[in-house]
Amino acid sequence: MQLKDNFDRPIKYLRLSVTDRCNLRCFYCMPEEGMHFLPKNQLLSYEEMLRITDIYSGMGVNKIRITGGEPFVRKDLIHFLEKLSKNPLLNKISITTNGILTKAFLPQLKALGIHQINLSLDSIDEQNFKKITRRDVFTTVMDTFYQLLADGFQVKINAVIMEGINDHEILDLANLARMHPVSVRFIEEMPFNGSGKSKKLNTWNHQKIHKQLESHFINFRKITAPENSTSANYTFDGASGNVGIIAAHSRTFCGTCDRIRITSTGEMRNCLYGHNVLNLKKLMREGCNDSEIKTQIIDVIQQRAKDGFEAEKLRGQLNPIEESMSVIGG
Ligand code: SAM
Ligand code: SF4
Repeated sequence: MQLKDNFDRPIKYLRLSVTDRCNLRCFYCMPEEGMHFLPKNQLLSYEEMLRITDIYSGMGVNKIRITGGEPFVRKDLIHFLEKLSKNPLLNKISITTNGILTKAFLPQLKALGIHQINLSLDSIDEQNFKKITRRDVFTTVMDTFYQLLADGFQVKINAVIMEGINDHEILDLANLARMHPVSVRFIEEMPFNGSGKSKKLNTWNHQKIHKQLESHFINFRKITAPENSTSANYTFDGASGNVGIIAAHSRTFCGTCDRIRITSTGEMRNCLYGHNVLNLKKLMREGCNDSEIKTQIIDVIQQRAKDGFEAEKLRGQLNPIEESMSVIGG
């Protein structure tokens, strides 16, 4: 079967957050102090994750991204990935990582057929990197970046662009795509900073980022993006790779959204901006069988909002966005 929502959009892509914990404190994602990470029994176990991924792949999901928190902070991630990669219904497993612990696992990832890694890198200036992430690990992350390239991984760099913080580095970051066969993706900042405080966002929206890149690079031109891609992709003369712009806060891509999310606590989300719609952990721990869980998934997928704006509205004023991206899985 192919799971479809109430707007006839096929659901093929699952983003699975395997932990809420992280070894960085990127300020746009979580506060420096006072993060209350959850006890292990409140997170999904690997067995529960495998059961969930089996259920969804049986319903037409064929692509999974492992995210978090920082996925490699969770113990035994590789053993979980070994089992996940045996699922014949999955065409692609990819990982989003901050690159701190990742390098040691690259040979195993390659052996498992996991070829696509998204590496978060908001700055290529050591001091600025430290300011953004609140940790002094720039050289470790760059080491991982070069190893990924040397090992032939498909690398996407994720850079959240923030006014007065790293907007002066847009061209330097884009230059990584001139020098290397990578995709450098500029992401609009979203309000999921875990502080409960909203701040003015989006001075650097997708249009402004585009304008800056277009005015600098010769023959800056759009290229075809993969189906259901959230990024608009571009290349320019002399580029070894390409750049992408993700209108994550302007939400221009919702019309073709094929993704759902499972938070680290086992909640299903129809939309990043929406509320949790189904507590899968509870269902599993209460003894529901797969067919009962499938019925409930089909039910909640029919309540999907048209786009991220509507999803946010449906949260209501009593439930404003204040969670950290690390819990939902970016
Ligand atoms: N720890 C891993 C990492 O940083 O790559 C994976 C989890 S992180 C939550 C996934 C992605 O979400 C990262 O690329 C990060 O930059 C992005 N992200 C986190 N908070 C964000 C925010 N408030 N706005 C936009 N992107 C955000
Ligand atoms: Fe950690 Fe990723 Fe959030 Fe940074 S963006 S604090 S690396 S989960």
